[in-house]
Amino acid sequence: MKAPAFTFLRPASLDEALAALAAGEGEARILAGGQSLLPMLNLRMAAAETLIDIGGLTELGEIAEADGRVRIGARVTHAALEDGVGGDRWNGMLVFVARDIAYRAVRNRGTIGGSLCHADPAADWPVAMMALGATMQIAGPDGRRELDSEAFSLDVFSCALEEGEMLTAVSLPRLSPAARWSYRKMRKKAGAFGEAIAAVVHDPESGLVRVVAGSSPLGGPARHADLEASIAAGAPVEDAAIRRSLAAREPDLDRYEMQIHATCLRRAITEVMR
Ligand SMILES: Cc1cc2nc3c(=O)[nH]c(=O)nc-3n(C[C@H](O)[C@H](O)[C@H](O)COP(=O)(O)OP(=O)(O)OC[C@H]3O[C@@H](n4cnc5c(N)ncnc54)[C@H](O)[C@@H]3O)c2cc1C
Repeated sequence: MKAPAFTFLRPASLDEALAALAAGEGEARILAGGQSLLPMLNLRMAAAETLIDIGGLTELGEIAEADGRVRIGARVTHAALEDGVGGDRWNGMLVFVARDIAYRAVRNRGTIGGSLCHADPAADWPVAMMALGATMQIAGPDGRRELDSEAFSLDVFSCALEEGEMLTAVSLPRLSPAARWSYRKMRKKAGAFGEAIAAVVHDPESGLVRVVAGSSPLGGPARHADLEASIAAGAPVEDAAIRRSLAAREPDLDRYEMQIHATCLRRAITEVMR
């Protein structure tokens, strides 16, 4: 099947893109890498009268550092992050996460912003960004605002963008050289979405401690504050504590789901605390 007819726009500035979104009155959508949106249009699982291609917006393609944080433009591709474009300030974590998303053809076009806005509960960047303490930079008809990643990630295929808003960038603290991280994903075959994902970050210099698990059965990424507290205190994290934490969050996990999520979390926590 092919997508229903749509109007294609390629604005040259952010203001132009926002004006096009406003003019679309809810029927216009941002087109980033098209790796999720275009198949959904073709399968008639999504609809759009107008597609606004953000490929020409220079601001959204930049990676820059200011005031101890790094701003990654929303249309920076997975492949660019895999290749370390803009430099590595996360002790290899972003490179590691990016290189395991789908396969290179998808990574060449798919963008970090597209992944975060699409909010697939099994996607990688929402988990990794929450684990790194990212904030989302948003532009819309009422100006610019910023949201932390927990407030941005609402539900399955749902993020906190209001009508007429778009994600312009992700802002991340850099990790200190002493920081440790682990990113564990279980999936049935190479290139497939993860069935269970766990990301753990501990930066003793900044005090950042994050334990995040994500997947479809969990309904997307969320932090496990009880496990974070144990890591911060340097206390051992038992398997039973991990299972209790997962069950408190999602009581309906079946035995297989519990096993793979608990295993991912245990491996990631062990790796960081070693
Ligand atoms: C075969 C295959 C395997 C995949 N495997 C994985 C995987 O293992 N892990 C993983 O994480 N992902 C995976 N993906 C998804 C991939 O990462 C996509 O690139 C990503 O989900 C969407 O990014 P995109 O840039 O292509 O966005 P698009 O498809 O262009 O857009 C997706 C949605 O986000 C909106 N949007 C995009 N950018 C913005 C913005 N700046 N502001 C507001 N709204 C915006 C669009 O309007 C649309 O609703 C896979 C995809 C394919 C096709």
